This record gives sequence, structure tokens and C-alpha cells, in this order.
Amino acid sequence: MTHEIAVIPGDGIGQEVTPAAVEVLETLEIDFEFREGDAGDAVQEETGEALPDETYELAASADATLFGAAGETAADVILPLREAVDSFVNVRPAKAYPGIDAVRPETNLVFLRENTEGVYSGHEDRLTDDVATLTRVVTESASRQLAEFACEYVEDNDYDGFTTVHKANVMRETDGLFRDTVADVADENGVETDEVLMDAFATHVCLEPDNFDVVVCPNLAGDVLSDLAAGLVGGLGLLPSANVGPDRGLFEPVHGTAPDIAGEGVANPAAAIISAAMLVEYLGYDEDGAAIREAVETTLEEGPRTPDLGGDASTDDVTEAIVDRL
Ligand code: ATP
Ligand code: MG
Repeated sequence: MTHEIAVIPGDGIGQEVTPAAVEVLETLEIDFEFREGDAGDAVQEETGEALPDETYELAASADATLFGAAGETAADVILPLREAVDSFVNVRPAKAYPGIDAVRPETNLVFLRENTEGVYSGHEDRLTDDVATLTRVVTESASRQLAEFACEYVEDNDYDGFTTVHKANVMRETDGLFRDTVADVADENGVETDEVLMDAFATHVCLEPDNFDVVVCPNLAGDVLSDLAAGLVGGLGLLPSANVGPDRGLFEPVHGTAPDIAGEGVANPAAAIISAAMLVEYLGYDEDGAAIREAVETTLEEGPRTPDLGGDASTDDVTEAIVDRL
């Protein structure tokens, strides 16, 4: 079976780490057909459009998309691309790796963040010069879809259950609906859950990250708290993410274009390559995903390493080492 993969490197180090991830995928004995699309600042300058229609269509029709990063135009690129794959959940693992300097080396958790609504649903108004408002949207259907995904995720990955993070004591209607729906779905599926208020979670996860494994959050809370967890594991450079929809997914490193090092050939490809591991796991090739992860982990521990991790290797050196280990 051939899997069509859209490859959208974008700007900055996206142009360096995305080809590295493709190279790793090409090492596998899986039949991929790669199709490259343009997006981001460079194509905006050229054509006036940050996300050309053909790139949108590419992502909307491919089995999965590998995305790099976009600069100034990020919001014009990534939001429509998430929509192109109909993504309802953003999967963000935050895991510390052996040999990497981390504030909390015992951290190993994964955020399942609602990806379509909450305060990011785009309903903002400027009523007068000095008053602005925002409508927060929570629906039962989106909360249910997220919770069903969470139940499946827990089962597939042998977790005991998940933690729901919310602020339903204050946002009684919106987070109340979110919390109750998620709890109902967990009940229906026989999955154990507990609940933590999002402010308390911020403290707990810093002090005792090993108390958590799968964390289910509304959109904004998931955005902020997963970045916080990124800090616990040693920064953005190693974090992958997946935007999952019912029929397709978009996989991207959490980091951006890193303009300070772009073009130098020294970007760390690990986050993009672990994102590629998530892509193959999404397509059902769990063993190949595990093999990529193992090759990355060994390379992080034994080297070669890029300068962000204290080494002096190039993106190509690290990619080659990972491919060799695969
Ligand atoms: P953007 O606006 O595109 O997000 P940024 O300036 O916020 O760009 P990030 O890409 O978010 O930059 O990166 C933040 C810092 O982390 C930068 O100093 C960057 O060099 C570093 N960094 C991020 N990703 C990597 C990577 N893959 N390898 C090495 N360093 C990285
Ligand atoms: Mg950034």
C-alpha cells in the first residue's frame, strides 16, 4: 500500500529539518510517495499568498503531512493547514531524554489538546476604543471527539487512564460542559480519569511531573501547559507534535523557524524526526515508529550532537547517524 505524504518545509530551519525527517522515512521499508508543497514567508513574498491553494489541497488529500515551520506568516499557514486535515486534537508529548539537560528529567507526559475551539475559535470583537471582548466556544461534540480519542490513546498505549485539566469552578458553563462530557465518555469506555484545575496543574507538573502521563485539556490550557512542560524537559528543540483528524494528520516539530541559526546547517533535526515517528505510528507502523525513536534516543545520548545540545555536529551529521542506527 502506498502512502501519499505531503511535505511542507516552510521557512527557516523548516527547510533543514524537514528533509532530514524525509531522509529517515526513506530508510524504512514502507511505500511512501512524497509530494512537496510551498508555504510561508518566502512564497508569500513571491506570490502574495502564504498558503497557495495547491499546498492546501495537497495537505487535504494526502494521507499525512510533514510540516516544518513558518515565520511571520505562521498563523496564515498552520491554522488553515490544521483545518485542511480536519484536526480536532493536537498531540504533544513532553519527554525528557537520557543525557539531555532537563529541569525535570523524570518528565514523560503527553498532552491531548483540543484543537478547534475554546478561546481560539476566533470570536473576538472590539466594541469601543477601550473595550474588547472574546467569546469562548465549547461544544459537546468537539469535547466528545477529543475524549474518544483520549480513551483510544490510553488503550493503544497501555496507560492506566488520563487526567482532565480544566477550570470548571470558574468557567462553569464552558469548562463545565468540557469536563462533564469528557467524564461521560471516559465512563462509557471504562477508562479511569482524574481531574486537576489548570492553575493547580501548573504547580503540580513543575514539582512532580511523574504524577502525570496523559493530560486532556481545552485549547488554551493545552497550549500554555505543554509549553511549560517543554521547559521541564530541556526546551523546544526536541519536541514533536501531531495534529490529528479523522482521516489524516499533520506532523510538525513544536519549534519555529529559528531565524538565529537558519541557513547554517546546524539545526537539531530530532524534533522533526520524532514527528516523523509519530506520522508512521499514525499510519499503523508502530514498530517502525519505535525503531526511529530508539535511533534518535541513542543518538541524543551518544552523539553526534548539534550545537544546541553542546555538540559541534551539523544537521546532516546527526541525520546520518540516526539513519545508520536505523
Ligand atoms: P518563530 O517565530 O519561527 O517561532 P523563534 O525566534 O521563536 O522563531 P524558535 O524556532 O521558536 O525561534 O526557537 C527558539 C530558540 O530555540 C532559538 O534560539 C532557536 O535557535 C532554538 N531552536 C529552536 N529549534 C531548534 C532546533 N531544531 N535546533 C536548534 N535550536 C533550535
Ligand atoms: Mg517561536
